[in-house]
Amino acid sequence: MSGAASILLVEDEAAQREILTYNLQSEGYDVRAATDGEEALVLVAEQVPDLILLDWMLPHVSGLEVCRRLRQRPETRAVPILMLSARSEEVDRVRGLETGADDYMVKPYSVTELMARLRAHLRRARPAVAGGVLEWGDLRLDAESHRVTRADKPLKLGPTEFRLLSTLMERPGRVYSREQLLDRVWGRDIYVDTRTVDVHVGRLRKALMAHGGDDPLRTVRGVGYSLG
Ligand code: CA
Repeated sequence: MSGAASILLVEDEAAQREILTYNLQSEGYDVRAATDGEEALVLVAEQVPDLILLDWMLPHVSGLEVCRRLRQRPETRAVPILMLSARSEEVDRVRGLETGADDYMVKPYSVTELMARLRAHLRRARPAVAGGVLEWGDLRLDAESHRVTRADKPLKLGPTEFRLLSTLMERPGRVYSREQLLDRVWGRDIYVDTRTVDVHVGRLRKALMAHGGDDPLRTVRGVGYSLG
């Protein structure tokens, strides 16, 4: 895993799918594409993406239905969904947003504008993967330059510890289970024992306290880890 934001593109028209895949990959995103709603739901169950670009008119399960189902699941409730549609009536726009889509673009849309909106949603939802800066207490993580400081002193973190910290810093206070951390930090395709998570949390903890200071990581027995 490179740490690039993952985008799930759901579009049944091959030409549209190719153009968007090309543009998304050019921007450095990790792209997976589905051609219908059912495939989209299967892919989301395999790995939760950072953002979903969802066409409205799809064979079998409509985009609207996919959106509704994703909003019902706790693990996908907060994933930004940007809907794409050929329909332009105001009533559809309202329906799309009521179902839980975060944004809505009418075809034919400008790819430049689509990319700009997508970046904005990613920055809000996943600041660490969108190249933002995360701050918590005296900790500062710059996702673009890959630098971490504590009380202005630079910290040395390995790539895994960096991803682990950025995941925890995106939602301070949220307790992540080992499985959730494996999923977000290592990705689902890789088989890693959950004890590996403990090893890397231990390394992260050590690195964070290299110049002194309290332990910012909390171990919740039988559950997992959180920041603060
Ligand atoms: Ca379509």
